[in-house]
Amino acid sequence: MALAFDEYGRPFIILREQEQKTRLRGIDAQKSNISAGKAVARILRTSLGPKGMDKMLQSPDGEVTITNDGATILEQMDVDNQIAKLMVELSRSQDYEIGDGTTGVVVMAGALLEQAERLLERGIHPIRIAEGYEMASRIAVEHLERIANKFEFSASNIEPLVQTCMTTLSSKIVNRCKRSLAEIAVNAVVAVADLERRDVNLELIKVEGKVGGKLEDTELIKGIIVDKDMSHPQMPKHIEDAKIAILTCPFEPPKPKTKHKVDIDTVEKFQNLREQEQKYFDDMVQKCKDVGATLVICQWGFDDEANHLLMHRNLPAVRWVGGVELELIAIATGGRIVPRFQELTPEKLGKAGLVREKSFGTTKDRMIYIEHCANSRAVTIFIRGGSDDWYCDVSSHSVSEVQFWYLFDALGNKMMIEETKRSIHDALCVARNLIRNNSIVYGGGAAEISCSLAVEAAADRHPGVEQYAIRAFADALDSIPMALAENSGLQPIETLSAVKSQQIKENNPWCGIDCNDVGTNDMREQNVFETLIGKQQQILLATQVVKMILKIDDVISPSEY
Ligand code: ADP
Repeated sequence: MALAFDEYGRPFIILREQEQKTRLRGIDAQKSNISAGKAVARILRTSLGPKGMDKMLQSPDGEVTITNDGATILEQMDVDNQIAKLMVELSRSQDYEIGDGTTGVVVMAGALLEQAERLLERGIHPIRIAEGYEMASRIAVEHLERIANKFEFSASNIEPLVQTCMTTLSSKIVNRCKRSLAEIAVNAVVAVADLERRDVNLELIKVEGKVGGKLEDTELIKGIIVDKDMSHPQMPKHIEDAKIAILTCPFEPPKPKTKHKVDIDTVEKFQNLREQEQKYFDDMVQKCKDVGATLVICQWGFDDEANHLLMHRNLPAVRWVGGVELELIAIATGGRIVPRFQELTPEKLGKAGLVREKSFGTTKDRMIYIEHCANSRAVTIFIRGGSDDWYCDVSSHSVSEVQFWYLFDALGNKMMIEETKRSIHDALCVARNLIRNNSIVYGGGAAEISCSLAVEAAADRHPGVEQYAIRAFADALDSIPMALAENSGLQPIETLSAVKSQQIKENNPWCGIDCNDVGTNDMREQNVFETLIGKQQQILLATQVVKMILKIDDVISPSEY
């Protein structure tokens, strides 16, 4: 900082910009970035695979999340470092495009960074490393195509799809119910899929959750559910072939728009007013009946008198339904949202084969199910669950975790629902990916080991400096099966070399890590596979991020003070 004077003698201060910043250049910048990336990957490494650990995260306002999903862990970690943020983005992109493999992609990127660090120390230029990685990733992706298998299924035989979703769910906290949840996910996807065009619109699948009951009570509903009940307990709870009036106008007399004053000084006047009001209600109900409505769904509430009248005139009603839900109901039932009673016509009514109110056990909780809708293939997955589900599941996780459960008995309910939602999302994505493209590769690290062998062999054909990077890429691929073995309590190096030599000897790319101690390394027998596009995406995304990190040689950041 310096003080200077202009030509009129006025003082001004010169701030040297660089003094306000800290700066890292060249190899220091790369090393610092690499260690930030590695730190993030290290956190996720222990979560990989069926025996992976869960993480507990607490948000600034005290909310606790327990999860096993890579994208969620990173999302909630609230990292500050820019490179760490890149890793978060990496996991998010995998989640966005594929939906599964969010932990694996970060572990792979971490391994690539670790290898790059060694190469940098040996004096290899970052650009050479980036180029070598790029070549190696192409070799790996092509190799995956070669070892991929076709996965056969049809609308009448969805069992293979269920098996795949079960693989995804087996590494999640909800694995106790993996069979039923996988069936629900696959049935939901098949319900909204166009199998001819190989297209699935996941937006037609709504995932709802309500605390209570058990995970086993989770169900698939061919329609929509609304977290409301009939406005009067004596209204019918089961309406077949419902004709639904979807209203955004309240059941009440219109209010004058300007200020007004009503003098009521006699009993007659009061009674008159009351009768008028009643007539309004009566007219409104009559209007709904005239057009043929057998159910009213209303955005607003209505007072006791209107409610009583509706019940009396045998017109069931649901009140206080949110705008978004109202829209969804209108789309699904082929009805129109009606803003004024005068506009109600028979064509504007929505149609549903069955509307019913369901109550849950002894609780006061009730929900409205709108099923067999006229117009839509939309389905809803309705998740139930409570803290009991955590307890049941403790057997499959480590003992130290048991201590946690007592801590959040109260919080547990909501967390269970949230974690189930995330797991179902992964399963839905896997089923969707298979319908779009039914090529698969085998999991448990089998595909990575096979790629590693192919990349290693290719390195020998490259005479340049890149061969070191290509070889390093092969080593990085090995870190996935190593992490799987380590997390399952196996000796990582011994297990990997045994599986690798078996792959070479038998020339079969299906040998992987037997994480669950089933007794065979053959992932085909264990039914552990992943989609080809998911695995390819993992390798490509991890390579791109690592290349990006390696190419940064100048880090300028605001100084601490
Ligand atoms: P991600 O978020 O990356 O999907 P997961 O924790 O779900 O991470 O672990 C996925 C990894 O675990 C994959 O490499 C998959 O092949 C492997 N895996 C899943 N189930 C098994 C199993 N039963 N045996 C061996 N490996 C498995």
